[in-house]
Amino acid sequence: MHGYDAETENLAQAVLRAACDRLRLDPAPLNGSRSLTELEAEIGDTVTEDGLGLRALDLFTGPLSRACISTDHPRFLAFVPCAPTEAAMLFDLLVGVSSVYGGSWLEGAGAVFAENQALRWLADLAGLPSEAGGVFVPGATVGTLSALVTARHRARAGTPAASGRRGVVAASANAHSSVAAACEVMDVDLVDVPVDAGGRMTGESLRRTVAGIDGLFAVVATAGTTNLGIVDDLAGAAEVCGERGAWLHVDGAYGAAGLAAPSVRGLFDGVERADSLVVDPHKWLFAPYDCCALLYREPEAAREAHTQRAGYLDILAATKETNPADLAVGLTRRARGLPFWFSVAVNGTRAYTRAVERTLELARFAADEVRRRPHLELIAEPDLSVVAFRRLGWSPEQYHVWSDRLLLTGFAFVVPTTYGGETVTRLAVVNPRTTEADISSILDTMA
Ligand SMILES: *Cc1c(COP(=O)(O)O)cnc(C)c1O
Repeated sequence: MHGYDAETENLAQAVLRAACDRLRLDPAPLNGSRSLTELEAEIGDTVTEDGLGLRALDLFTGPLSRACISTDHPRFLAFVPCAPTEAAMLFDLLVGVSSVYGGSWLEGAGAVFAENQALRWLADLAGLPSEAGGVFVPGATVGTLSALVTARHRARAGTPAASGRRGVVAASANAHSSVAAACEVMDVDLVDVPVDAGGRMTGESLRRTVAGIDGLFAVVATAGTTNLGIVDDLAGAAEVCGERGAWLHVDGAYGAAGLAAPSVRGLFDGVERADSLVVDPHKWLFAPYDCCALLYREPEAAREAHTQRAGYLDILAATKETNPADLAVGLTRRARGLPFWFSVAVNGTRAYTRAVERTLELARFAADEVRRRPHLELIAEPDLSVVAFRRLGWSPEQYHVWSDRLLLTGFAFVVPTTYGGETVTRLAVVNPRTTEADISSILDTMA
């Protein structure tokens, strides 16, 4: 099964044809989920002693794909969709056949050099200093965990007395579930900071909440909540972190893509004071999964916290350039930033600004359409590209029936969420392929 022979040539042509066929579909079918029983009945065993040959490809392009919802469908507006550019998706194929080890400079210098330029663009958008740097990790969950581990390491190094004390992280009550997950893994306490009427964590609220709390080593401010797209008062959070000597981590997994859009850039004032920042290009920056940019103001702090040491790794520590693996949890690393880098390099940053602005325009259109319809009501004016609203008079059950029907008919994927205990719904617009007509037609189904 190793070696490029006539059979491999066949396989190559078939796989590349299938990839291009998928890319050409406009739009790709939404597809839907299937139960285990259905899949067992339809597909059966695929792992056999003699191998299935090309039939395995047919299984994927057929029944297996049909059982996966296309996250780049223009009417997939649930959670946070993924809407990669053609350049990014195609380049993922090439990364796959290039056998690049992205964990060390020695082995992956060219790839890491390119990834670092993409990271630099993001650091510049945030206004981070020239020494800033980072690494592409699988997602913001791993990124935030890595950043908080770095923050704790730094705090313990600064005050040996802090080592024996239980650490505390503060974050908005609206912070993403991954912050609590990271605190759980680290066995530190998480303090919820009450939000203002607009759902934002303000400097004052943070200051009041952490007053008298011992062991505070980090604050997580959210730049674009998942549910509503709300940006915390980053400058206020930075102020309090300065007073308390705490690390400021900004969770911009979804929202920090807005840094590229002049129309909303002002919401992020203060982000330039972050000690660390995560943004997921697989959310609103048009890269395929799994791609999170983790940036540090001082990468050296992360190196101190994360570098693994062993005789078999000494040779990698000898280069003067930073090894990506030294900046986060994990060692072996796919050069997962390359599809993002390639698309930015091919298309230029201005195209990114235009695409993000386009989705913001669509979100504002959606908010107008909601406002125009008497049976619909906005939960909040959208700051970014998430529009949350209620259907007056609907029970939770009715939201679920409506959502199931949209998916079953292959029309759209929009799911209920809860806000303050109430079942509502939301549209997360990150796909420039979505149109005004897509949005209107979805809202029409709620009449
Ligand atoms: C999606 C999201 C995360 C988690 O990111 P993953 O890439 O799924 O690990 C964290 N924070 C916010 C605000 C998010 O929207």
